[in-house]
Amino acid sequence: GTAGPGSTLDRATESEGNVVQSAPNHSAYSIQAQRERLPIAKHREKLMYCVEMYGVTIVVGQTGCGKTTQLPQYLFECGWAADGHVIACTQPRRVAATSVAGRVASEIGCSLGEEVGYTIRFEDVSDKERTRIRYMTDGMLFRETLLDPLLSRYSVIMIDEAHERSLYTDLLLGVLKKHVNLLCSAIRRKRPSLRLIVSSATLDATSFLEYFTSGTSPEEATVVSLEGRMYPVEVAYLQEPTPDYVRKAAEVAWNINLEHGRGDILIFLTGREEIDRCLEELAELLPTLPRGASRLTLLALHAGLTTEEQLRVFEPAEQGFRKVIVATNIAEASVTIDGVKFVIDSGFVKIRTYNPTTFLASLSTVPVSLASATQRAGRAGRTSSGICYRLYPASTFASLSRTIPPEITRTDMTTPILQLKSLGIDDLMKFEWVSAPPAESVLRALEGLVSAGMISDNGRLTVVGEQVAECPVEVGVARMLFSSKEFKCGEEILTIAAMTSVQDIFVIPDGGAQGAIAELERRKFTAEEGDHLTLLNAYNAFKRYGQSSSWCKSHALSFRAMSRAVSIRSQLKKYMVRFGLPIESCEGDAKRLRQCLILHVHPTSVLFTRKARTGWVIFHELEETKKTQIRILTEIEPDWYVFKYSIANDDFHSFRIQLQCRLLDHGHKYQSRHNGATR
Ligand code: ADP
Ligand code: MG
Repeated sequence: GTAGPGSTLDRATESEGNVVQSAPNHSAYSIQAQRERLPIAKHREKLMYCVEMYGVTIVVGQTGCGKTTQLPQYLFECGWAADGHVIACTQPRRVAATSVAGRVASEIGCSLGEEVGYTIRFEDVSDKERTRIRYMTDGMLFRETLLDPLLSRYSVIMIDEAHERSLYTDLLLGVLKKHVNLLCSAIRRKRPSLRLIVSSATLDATSFLEYFTSGTSPEEATVVSLEGRMYPVEVAYLQEPTPDYVRKAAEVAWNINLEHGRGDILIFLTGREEIDRCLEELAELLPTLPRGASRLTLLALHAGLTTEEQLRVFEPAEQGFRKVIVATNIAEASVTIDGVKFVIDSGFVKIRTYNPTTFLASLSTVPVSLASATQRAGRAGRTSSGICYRLYPASTFASLSRTIPPEITRTDMTTPILQLKSLGIDDLMKFEWVSAPPAESVLRALEGLVSAGMISDNGRLTVVGEQVAECPVEVGVARMLFSSKEFKCGEEILTIAAMTSVQDIFVIPDGGAQGAIAELERRKFTAEEGDHLTLLNAYNAFKRYGQSSSWCKSHALSFRAMSRAVSIRSQLKKYMVRFGLPIESCEGDAKRLRQCLILHVHPTSVLFTRKARTGWVIFHELEETKKTQIRILTEIEPDWYVFKYSIANDDFHSFRIQLQCRLLDHGHKYQSRHNGATR
């Protein structure tokens, strides 16, 4: 670990593609010793007995007790991966899947992708023959049920972090519940060995137990509680609410370092921008650090980092240094960092919400739940007693809601419903939801799918619907790929689909002249028509100039993100070829492209907005925080849409939402172009 702002704030990564390294090697002995010291080790026999005897084992235990890293290894050691079978462990977050797989590979002593691998969307670091333990996102395992409903490769499926109730965790539980119901009948004979483990960090296991035992014999499911040791955590509140919790977090961290002895600091913020800002605030203070005070190693932890960058947070601080880890709620339960003694909790979390009436999906920052606040505080008491600083008054804590509603109740159901249909679950009423989605969002999704020709009037999937369900992208993006045939622009749409599937393409360049030049160079890609075409320009230039990392650096683009887009594009291209979709170029006809893009936002999320003055735009993502921000937008003519769907103007106007828009990141040029139209 190096210290200082230069090394820790440099976001422009130079890593080669998606090369993944496992955690730094400790000797095999010390790893075995560490494994045996984990609280879960004492429960090993009992756990293995339950998995043997019950169809479903529900495991509840404090974060850090060893569920994610140890359980799959125990199963492996007990022979559950014999006969070519695979042990799957699902995670709601990509970061957790990759970082945990890295850790387990180094515990077992293999390279990632051999006995231990991971699979996240567009990135499969596992081996068909060799991989025995496979960490994967819940969404990827759910997709696999579309191809093999019996999940016959797997002997045990561990649905991890079930308390998070992510959309695909819920859907998987529903599909697997069907299995459990059928276990008693014919399928049990066909699949005698499939076992399910549901693991959760909170104590609310009864609801999962009730869910799995309803309609089946009670002998099918059992609960194992892993009591873990927890040291006392003192909680401190602010007297008054703070207008800027990012700055406050930096300030509190700074003071902790001056006033307290050893122990690392973990800060919970809501997203990458806040994290970067907080790290900058701290970096600015560094030169004023008094003699004799601990020096600081500043670290970020969020989904936009490379795996290597993520793994740096696990490296112990060097002598004389204290780690300050500024994280999203990844660090709340999915990932455990030893040595944290101080937690600073902003009290907020970013969640995705969806309004089925306006078809508007957005990311919003909301107060955390009581469960989250408690969980976050607990991160301070893992290895010794600790302190949690909540950046809000005690009265606010008392008013927090108990939990945040499961994702399935606040998300666009279009893609999941198409997938359920593709699984042969035609009667959505009969599906045993863990929590049912609101009727309104199911109805709207069905309407959208029918009007897009993916579901026929009798409720069955059409051929196109079947193909779209197979594509590893959202319905809207898949639909755009399919309609490129009509607009003869498959070549470009493929690129746009790939580029919108990666995050953080634009990097904030280093300060100084070179950074400024890089940013200017990047602006040359800006297209008048908007961001989708800007992304296209950037991609084409990247290809034209040999896909080099130095070229990316001099254009303020992320080499990693661009390389990922190249890989995603080639994967999506295979689907297009398979479905017989032509890959033609529009030969620079931007209007055709923009018309094709409209289909991208229909029917999933009719994300239109009226710019204050100039006209209409479509956009890829909306973020509603203190100010509203729109990610990736393109100008369109409203007539194109109205014409295409013969939607009455009145209806169309109801979609209109007045927004003050500000483009993220590369928006300067756009702002000046529409002077006065933006904020
Ligand atoms: P749980 O799933 O119950 O929350 P984990 O299995 O994730 O627990 O973690 C068990 C232990 O392994 C923790 O004490 C954690 O500190 C350690 N650990 C997990 N991942 C890593 C890693 N990448 N590097 C070092 N230690 C790790
Ligand atoms: Mg875990």
